[in-house]
Amino acid sequence: MEEVSRIFDEVHRQGRNFLLEPEAKAICIEYGIPVTAFRLAKTEEEALKFADDIGYPVVLKIVSPDILHKSDVGGVIINLKNHEEVKDAHRKILSNVKKHKADAEIVGILVQEMAPKSTEVIIGATKDSQFGPALMFGLGGVFVEILEDVTFRIAPITEQDAREMITEVKAYPLLKGYRGQPPADIDTIISILLNTSKLVMDHQEIKELDLNPIMVYEKGAKTVDARIILE
Ligand code: ADP
Ligand code: MG
Repeated sequence: MEEVSRIFDEVHRQGRNFLLEPEAKAICIEYGIPVTAFRLAKTEEEALKFADDIGYPVVLKIVSPDILHKSDVGGVIINLKNHEEVKDAHRKILSNVKKHKADAEIVGILVQEMAPKSTEVIIGATKDSQFGPALMFGLGGVFVEILEDVTFRIAPITEQDAREMITEVKAYPLLKGYRGQPPADIDTIISILLNTSKLVMDHQEIKELDLNPIMVYEKGAKTVDARIILE
């Protein structure tokens, strides 16, 4: 957990109130929350090398303390299949960001493993001034955004709470498998909920946490984007 303290200290030192994606994902890893493999590239050459190391296809994303919602500024390009596409995407992201915010500080470009499409779930946490941290669970996309099919529990949660959260959303049958779709790995979702609960209990300075989306497979899961905002 030394790594976690080091990251929070660095964020405070820089006077930021949110973590960059590689910082948030590094904390997830420390808490046993699975994330897509990633490397932070400082140059185009590094991006190419890291893409080779990670394996194609890859995703490139902007990492900047001035950009919280990366895709809003054209800062995320997915499904890159070779050197040529990585080079183009690297240039495109930097030019998109420049157009949107000319003076944005660029920390680097995050090269990451492309998570295959699957059932998407969202796990979140928000801190209530009265009750402390609360956890949220729902399925990704329309289920959360339009149907508001989500469930909440005050942290810390037990394994039984986590299981109930998953089974009580209306979209739960989708996780059990449908029309030839294999069932999703419920035990992994439970473990991510429990580990997220521990993370927000251990670090009360977290105001908001968003694992959105998490791709859940028949076996295992991968968090594609992680956001942590501090008080
Ligand atoms: P934002 O800051 O805009 O939320 P995200 O990192 O969530 O940026 O990327 C936007 C979208 O791109 C994600 O919701 C997901 O659909 C897709 N995406 C991002 N990273 C990956 C990845 N590693 N594998 C697969 N899809 C991804
Ligand atoms: Mg996102």
